[in-house]
Amino acid sequence: MGFYAHSCIQAMKKKIWKDKSEFKKRVHDFAKKMDINVKSLSLRTMTTKWASCSTEGNLNFNKDLLNIERDLGEYVIVHELLHFKVPNHGKLWKSLMRAYLGDYEELEVRLRRVAGESKNRID
Ligand SMILES: [Zn+2]
Repeated sequence: MGFYAHSCIQAMKKKIWKDKSEFKKRVHDFAKKMDINVKSLSLRTMTTKWASCSTEGNLNFNKDLLNIERDLGEYVIVHELLHFKVPNHGKLWKSLMRAYLGDYEELEVRLRRVAGESKNRID
């Protein structure tokens, strides 16, 4: 039992972010790919949201994202970045999400599960 628990924790650790700067780098990578100009970017303590963005190009991400799986963080990154281009969750937004992330709906379900525990949501 102890052995399995241990290897399970190891496997999970591999999938989370190394640190803040790795996360930020990923944001800039996606922004570049998507041709979006990010003016300021920060990771901070947020109590009810995974992220927020302003039309001026300022992005804030919840620090808690560093402690959950990387692909869920990427979901939040792409979700927010896309709102610079598409303000809603309509057809265009959905097809772009799929283009950048593949099966983003699966990620959504998993993120919602995590959010249920932490009360965070995404706009
Ligand atoms: Zn949204």
